[in-house]
Amino acid sequence: MVATSNAPEAEERVLSTLNRDGSRRVMRPKLSKGHYYRRRFVTAWALIATFTLIPILKLNGKPLMLLDVPKREFTFFGATFLPTDTFLLMLLLFSIFIGIFLITAVLGRVWCGWACPQTVYMEFVYRPLEILIEGGRKRQLELDAQGPDGRRILKYAVFLAVSAFLANTFLAYFVGWDRLLTWMSGSPAAHPGAFLLMAGTTALMFFDFAYFREQTCIVACPYGRFQSVLLDRRSLIVGYDAGRGEPKAPWRKKEERAAGDCIDCKLCVSACPTGIDIRDGLQMECIHCTQCIDACDEVMDRIGLDRGLVRYTSQAELADGKRSFLRPRVVIYSAILVVMLGAFAFSLAGKSAADVTLLRGLGAPFTILPDGRVSNQIRIKIANRSEEERSYLIELAGGSGLELIAPENPLTVAPGETEMTAAFITAPPSAFSDGEAPVALTIGNGIDFTKVLDYRILGPAARGNGFEGSGP
Ligand code: SF4
Ligand code: SF4
Repeated sequence: MVATSNAPEAEERVLSTLNRDGSRRVMRPKLSKGHYYRRRFVTAWALIATFTLIPILKLNGKPLMLLDVPKREFTFFGATFLPTDTFLLMLLLFSIFIGIFLITAVLGRVWCGWACPQTVYMEFVYRPLEILIEGGRKRQLELDAQGPDGRRILKYAVFLAVSAFLANTFLAYFVGWDRLLTWMSGSPAAHPGAFLLMAGTTALMFFDFAYFREQTCIVACPYGRFQSVLLDRRSLIVGYDAGRGEPKAPWRKKEERAAGDCIDCKLCVSACPTGIDIRDGLQMECIHCTQCIDACDEVMDRIGLDRGLVRYTSQAELADGKRSFLRPRVVIYSAILVVMLGAFAFSLAGKSAADVTLLRGLGAPFTILPDGRVSNQIRIKIANRSEEERSYLIELAGGSGLELIAPENPLTVAPGETEMTAAFITAPPSAFSDGEAPVALTIGNGIDFTKVLDYRILGPAARGNGFEGSGP
């Protein structure tokens, strides 16, 4: 429905999706099924299958991807990163960012046009369903003017069902497919929190794809905002060849034509899902979906001119005809990416089967026992990275007169879990020098992990034959 308003009109359009009176300009693009659309169709459905299957398929008994935010555990293709893997995750995230910089510098917004879930689901699921139920652009515009009828209500009902499916796919990445199936097969009353989460995510998906649509790309997505920084004159863009197209003029026979090749049919504009005119130059709203290329190529075919008036090009190529993608920033990004990925692979290969952290006990740093020995409490935190349950034996590695008292020894840790236990190390006062004594602990499970950890226990500072200070 087209919104109306009594607000004063702006002198010119501020956003392609706003009318001059500030009301929403609803986009009803005319689908152009040219050669790029057919390639994008195949790519999109391959991606939809991939997005759907990733949380369902398993490797080493784990989903291909699981982002367990509450536990801060992230699984990617069989490898699980625990909260202690901050460095690895940092390397991975940094590599992803540099990869995005590199891809954008070379290929522009190819992600937006070809692979972003927003575009993929909008243009290859929701939009085709909309056309199937309501008809093409003309019929949709008529419906906008008339007000909703049964077909529009049916469309929203179908959108809601698709949004519920998408919401479950999305949630599976965060809660796991197995848990999601349990939620889905049980009564909402048995899992009220889960039901609310699923309903809320479905509502968000519905809002996004039924109403908000291209606004997500134009006003909500930070990547669109970044593009002016990431693109340069030699990045791949979808561009209009003004040198060939101008001056534009309505079509006449080829031999009678003195103007440029653009016949001002505006089919490139009516095909655009973000409502811009590509002939105005590179714009932030352009998601490089190639619909204007397909629309214009079809026109060129019909009037017998060469395709490519609107095409994949670069600003530099449009200005001087030279196409070259190699430049310093591409080399620098590539070099940084290789270093980052190398460091990530090296750190990943060197990852041990467990992580052990020694922490001082809470409260007093040490106590003097009735027999004069000094006791330190330590907390031992063990993260089991293996796929099996493991029992970790904690032992003192040498040191005369030292004694370990560990109520939970060995400590059993489930796969992928972290456990903490408390232990006491006692030592004679003579073991301390300047209030400290070195100790070493061996922690191992006899299968895939053994590590010797150095630690310093605290005690009274010795002075002469007596003690300086005392236990708390
Ligand atoms: S200008 Fe062309 S490539 Fe850009 S969003 Fe519109 S139709 Fe897609
Ligand atoms: S589709 Fe091609 S010919 Fe038609 S207005 Fe757009 S650029 Fe010009």
